[in-house]
Amino acid sequence: METRIGFGYDSHVFKKGVPLHLGGLLIDHPEGLAGHSDGDLLLHAVTDALLGAVSAGDIGSFFPPSDPRWKDADSAIFLNQARETLQHAGYRIVNIDTTLILAAPKIGPISAKMRARVADLLGLGTDQVSIKAKTPEGLNLDHVAQCHAVVLVERVIDPEELKTMSAVIENQSQIEEVVDDLLSSVPALPK
Ligand code: MG
Repeated sequence: METRIGFGYDSHVFKKGVPLHLGGLLIDHPEGLAGHSDGDLLLHAVTDALLGAVSAGDIGSFFPPSDPRWKDADSAIFLNQARETLQHAGYRIVNIDTTLILAAPKIGPISAKMRARVADLLGLGTDQVSIKAKTPEGLNLDHVAQCHAVVLVERVIDPEELKTMSAVIENQSQIEEVVDDLLSSVPALPK
């Protein structure tokens, strides 16, 4: 089995009057995470880990903050793109491990729901997704949320077979088409 690993990291600042999107969930909290998109840094860190695992760049290369299409965008779109890129490279996810670092809200009571949501977005079992949380003790960063993510992937498609597949993303125009498709295919938030 040929395996690779990927690592992702992100941080966002808390801001009052902004909805808190975290781990694909909308969480009831007095402040949310500022960002050009919906600010879901857990999904951003996992997206970067997936892209990193197949050396496919990072979230900014696919979804530049300068592009107005991604203003307030659902970060599930970014995750979907990374999942597709991984599949097109011939790999699948073995497991994902994440650590959130934030003072509040407490993640323990909602971590099961968050794991289920991230697993659902990626077509994985919940046992393939780990979400842990720590408080930023000693860092004086209570106004910031951070997330680290690692992913293990394994090759499922032979490189020779890949060469004959027309679905391989080769240039920016094809990426744009995939992104447009994805915009209409993101699963809705659970009620
Ligand atoms: Mg981010």
